[in-house]
Amino acid sequence: MPHLSFPPDSPEPLLRLAILECGQVCYARHLMTSNDGNISVRVDESRVLITPAGLCKGRMDADDLLIVDLRGNVLASANDRRPSTETPMHLEVYKLRPDVRAVIHAHPIFATALTVAGLDFPDDILPEVALTLGHVPVSAYATPSSHEDAEVVRPLIRDHDAILLRQHGSLTVGKNLEEALIHLERLEHVAEVFHHARQLGGVARIPPEELRKLANSKLLRHCEEGALPGAARQGRCPDEAIPKGDAVSSDQGIASHPSTSGVPSAQDARNDGRRQSPRSKS
Ligand SMILES: [Zn+2]
Repeated sequence: MPHLSFPPDSPEPLLRLAILECGQVCYARHLMTSNDGNISVRVDESRVLITPAGLCKGRMDADDLLIVDLRGNVLASANDRRPSTETPMHLEVYKLRPDVRAVIHAHPIFATALTVAGLDFPDDILPEVALTLGHVPVSAYATPSSHEDAEVVRPLIRDHDAILLRQHGSLTVGKNLEEALIHLERLEHVAEVFHHARQLGGVARIPPEELRKLANSKLLRHCEEGALPGAARQGRCPDEAIPKGDAVSSDQGIASHPSTSGVPSAQDARNDGRRQSPRSKS
């Protein structure tokens, strides 16, 4: 898949190939089923290349993709397609995140199931999450294919490269499609591991002090590289990489994060007694 890692200012034909490749991966990995999901890349400051509505993303042609401006007006559509119904959500990301050049909205099974079950994303069970995605918030519920999706991601996307859309799917972003896809695959992998751990008898959480060490090393790495993507913005300096307001269960040693959605969340549900100890069923 040589085109997914496209550099800035890549020619439009290459970007079209990158979207086709990404769609094939997402469909084969069951990250997008049927004609669900949508993929876009930033062509330049004012134009976005995006997938059409009503088409399986694993079986597209390059001419099926459309060019839109940042207000959603169709500028070019070779096959007379309509743009994705989630175009407003993609455009909201490009307006708020100049560093982002690729957006993937998918329907990953295990990650989506978390939000259906009313659970938060388990960002404290595997070290690689703290080193990469950091905290993954769950948005408020929104009607799919409406402007509501753009509204619920607006308060979250500045500081996160991966978001779960409540009872809908995921939104991941990156400097190219390779990065956005890696975030998506990691999101789904963690959710699947969490599911299997529960089936096996319990979920062991990484202690808060260990999470803090991981978050600090992530932030230092990003600072050294001179880049500060959304995930790294969660910490302003190494000592603040884990928000100080986090609730920590003194008897269970579990780190958690406050709800960012403004609606009852999995955190609230767990505070209602559904939270489990590291060695008990959850
Ligand atoms: Zn969707």
